[in-house]
Amino acid sequence: MSETKTGNIVAKSTLNTDADDNVTGTAVEVVEKVTVTASKANSITPSTTCSDSELTDIDVTPTVSVEQAALDEKWMRVAMAQATLAEAKGEVPVGAVLVQDDTLIASGYNLSICEHNPTAHAEIECIQAAGKVLKNYRMLNTTLYVTLEPCSMCAGAMVHSRIARVVYGADDLKTGAAGSVVDLLRHPQFNHQLEVTKGVLAEECAAQLSQFFKRRRAEIKAAKQAKRQAQTQDQTR
Ligand SMILES: [Zn+2]
Repeated sequence: MSETKTGNIVAKSTLNTDADDNVTGTAVEVVEKVTVTASKANSITPSTTCSDSELTDIDVTPTVSVEQAALDEKWMRVAMAQATLAEAKGEVPVGAVLVQDDTLIASGYNLSICEHNPTAHAEIECIQAAGKVLKNYRMLNTTLYVTLEPCSMCAGAMVHSRIARVVYGADDLKTGAAGSVVDLLRHPQFNHQLEVTKGVLAEECAAQLSQFFKRRRAEIKAAKQAKRQAQTQDQTR
């Protein structure tokens, strides 16, 4: 039974070089707005009734079997482990894995800051690695799991790679291209449409992001206070 949204988690953080040993170069501002979609059974069935206020937000998530829902959770946890690797490098924690017949093909995590590369999103890293494993630029009959709703760039790469299905955790209301802002994965005029399952471990995926931004805000605040204290001490000498 698919449930309506239970609340928004808005995480906003300014990442700068003063507070991040892992970051060099220009200051980077990251603003993430994440919505948790509660899914008691991973959106196993779409909504069949809705109020007037919900008519513009009809869940088109296809039916997923109980067995598939369990597999989805299993692989989403692997994607979350990838997100943890990103966080350890000071990156926004987003992780992705590509799976075929319940077998891991490739994985990736966000590396944009470390690599000074705005295209180094988890999904792109994963797709590029998968191409080398499969020795094919088409990734037929595969499922990509990612902890955050794909952006337009990553959705485009998924269409080009012919990935069959994408499963994601938290919605991204700012840049989500799987329905939150725009739906490029199921655009009827494209030559390939993906099956989309949203909201798998959504709360845990969103918590991973919001805790990261909360911690980063505290680190930046502490760094600014330390800087002010140092300046005050210099002035009183
Ligand atoms: Zn992306």
